[in-house]
Amino acid sequence: MAILSGCRTHTGCRYILMSAMTKDENQRLAAVKTLQALVEKKLNIGTSGNVSVRTIEGMLITPTGINPALLLPEQIVAMDLEGQVAEDQLTPSSEWQMHADVYREKPDVNAIVHCHSPYATILACAHKSIPAVHYMVAAAGSDEIPLAGYATFGSKELSQANLEALSGSLACLLANHGQLATGENLDQALKLAELVEEQAHCYWGTLAIGGPRLLDSQQMNEVLAAFADYGQQKSTNGLPPVKKTDQTLRGKE
Ligand SMILES: [Zn+2]
Repeated sequence: MAILSGCRTHTGCRYILMSAMTKDENQRLAAVKTLQALVEKKLNIGTSGNVSVRTIEGMLITPTGINPALLLPEQIVAMDLEGQVAEDQLTPSSEWQMHADVYREKPDVNAIVHCHSPYATILACAHKSIPAVHYMVAAAGSDEIPLAGYATFGSKELSQANLEALSGSLACLLANHGQLATGENLDQALKLAELVEEQAHCYWGTLAIGGPRLLDSQQMNEVLAAFADYGQQKSTNGLPPVKKTDQTLRGKE
């Protein structure tokens, strides 16, 4: 699939050509590393997780059924958002529809991480969203991390349920399935997936000792307002909001 855009000044400009190739290669390598990081961070086991990153033509997404440790950058699948895959590529993740629909409906999202991390999956199997059990829940964009209703994996119905859950959130749990996190880039999406798992673990733990004492809406609004302020600062140094708020707020504790 063509991924190059020509130089607008010089016909056949190799500098622009090489820059475009490097970006594609970098994105492929980042996708491989992100999938492998899910295993290293114990957010994923086996071949169930998948990651993608937006491109000009659509997206790059991990192939189905490949051991992350053996995955090569050239095996990452380039496809458009309608499901068209160029020839001579591996079969894309069975969840490509869920990824494609997010890119189509949410222009701010440039990367997606989906995994079956243990505690997020436990809550998803109990049909529980993650309430305001800890202030860092707000890093996902609202006062809870929502739960998408159940639908068969890989289906359009699951994609629709996921989109509905993401209407006010950057991440969600998928009922009887796992979790999905979005970001402006793969690093952000991976960090948010980690945060979702951390919050799921926290909530699960409180449920085991009598239940949490939740933050109220005013307390969470104050956190969300503080996060928004930090988010404005990030535009000057390029740091993702989740990472920055996490570092900043924890640094004050
Ligand atoms: Zn899955």
